[in-house]
Amino acid sequence: MTASAIEVRRSARRRRTVSAYREGDRTIVLIPARMSEAEERRWVTVMLDKLAAQENRRTIGDGELAERARRLSAQYFDGRARPASVRWVTNQNTRWGSCTPAEGSIRLSHRLQGMPEYVVDYVLLHELAHLLVPGHGPDFWRLLEAYPRTERARGYLEGVVAAARLPQLPGARAE
Ligand SMILES: [Zn+2]
Repeated sequence: MTASAIEVRRSARRRRTVSAYREGDRTIVLIPARMSEAEERRWVTVMLDKLAAQENRRTIGDGELAERARRLSAQYFDGRARPASVRWVTNQNTRWGSCTPAEGSIRLSHRLQGMPEYVVDYVLLHELAHLLVPGHGPDFWRLLEAYPRTERARGYLEGVVAAARLPQLPGARAE
């Protein structure tokens, strides 16, 4: 369901410029027709970073994060998920979020900062759902079905992981 998150379109009329935009669930990256495969990979990474930065320039503080968690729980889980704490952490690089149900604590990776709000909301909801249902069985995903952007957010995060695995050339970062 999430395989088509990124679409690269080559244009013969384009000589040097690269651009990218969101179109529904997909991200379209426009590149010159003559660009090599390696350059294409490099530019897709650059443009994904750039788009993400544009979409969420401000950083959400821990207080606002807790408020969002309350709002999302009320909206999608009838307020049943009540975390004792919600905060950003910087020591979590292999997971986007984690939850300790016994303590009611939810932690989100700082790597989500700068990503679109619907993606942050999805990860928050995912961890909130774990306060109600452990593991990732059918009951768990049924809860998340209430959130209309679950598939889209999962596709986005898969795209980020895929892009991170691409070879990075020096100087490829967006400014
Ligand atoms: Zn989970």
